Parts: sequence; C-alpha cells; structure tokens
Amino acid sequence: MIKIKPHHFMDIIKLYGKGIEMFIPDDKYNHNFYYVANEIIKNHHIHIKITLEQDDICLPCKYLGKEGRCIDTIDHINDVSFKNEWNQIIDNRIIENSNVLANSIHSAHEYCKILYSVKENIFDVWKEETNSDKYDRYNYFCLGAEKYLGIL
Ligand code: SF4
Repeated sequence: MIKIKPHHFMDIIKLYGKGIEMFIPDDKYNHNFYYVANEIIKNHHIHIKITLEQDDICLPCKYLGKEGRCIDTIDHINDVSFKNEWNQIIDNRIIENSNVLANSIHSAHEYCKILYSVKENIFDVWKEETNSDKYDRYNYFCLGAEKYLGIL
C-alpha cells in the first residue's frame, strides 16, 4: 500500500499526461516521487491511502522536517511562503471536491477515475495560480487520466 497526498497523485497523472512513462530520481529533493509514480503507473490495482500528512513520497526527502512538516518554501502564491501551508490548502480542497476522505483506501485506478470525474475543480483547487498554469495543469491531468484509464 502507498500512502499519498491527493496533489501528489494528481501531479503523477499530470506528468504522465505530459509524456513521462518512466520517472527518475530527483537529486535536489531526494524524495520518493519517482518510485511511487512508477508503482502507480505500472500497477493500477495498487492500494493507496489518502493522507494530508507526510506521505511515502516525502519520507526520504531532504525537505521533510520535524513532525512530518515540509520545510520547503514557495514564491508563486501571494501570502503563502511555506510549501507545507500550500499543500494543506490544495489537499483539503481536493478532498472536499472529490468527496474522498483522508485515510480512505482505494485502488490507484479507482482514485484516478474519481478525480477525473471532478476534473473541472482543478480551476478552483489551484485558483491562486496563473490562468496559464491552471490550463496546463488541467489539460495535462486530463491527458494523463484518459491514458491511465484507457479512454483515449
Ligand atoms: S517533504 Fe515537501 S518537498 Fe519533500 S516531497 Fe514532501 S511535500 Fe515535497
């Protein structure tokens, strides 16, 4: 079973939509994004547990601080400087919009299907981002989800 934050799952599907089929390790962060992403892409039946806390991607990350808080910073959202705060905002919005509760367990395929069914909410979840970023996020997520779900 993989423990994963909702926005991390959506990022994996978005990057899959951008054409990445095999994820590679990231030297800057040293996180487990590549491993979790490859597992999800190759095995649709894998069980995932939705979390608002640190997830399996965060575990080896250089930016994972005390009590599971992310200590990385961001500069693309007004009035939000810490990634931990931004992650909490967007993950809570995804949970509300999808009706998939924290700590619930699903297959990766099933969770992708649910998020695809409420895909228009991407514009609300990431409303503070630029329009161009939101449209890119929406378009690539849709492409990735359609490829993953076999509806292309
Ligand atoms: S600790 Fe922060 S930067 Fe590292 S994977 Fe988790 S959310 Fe991303």
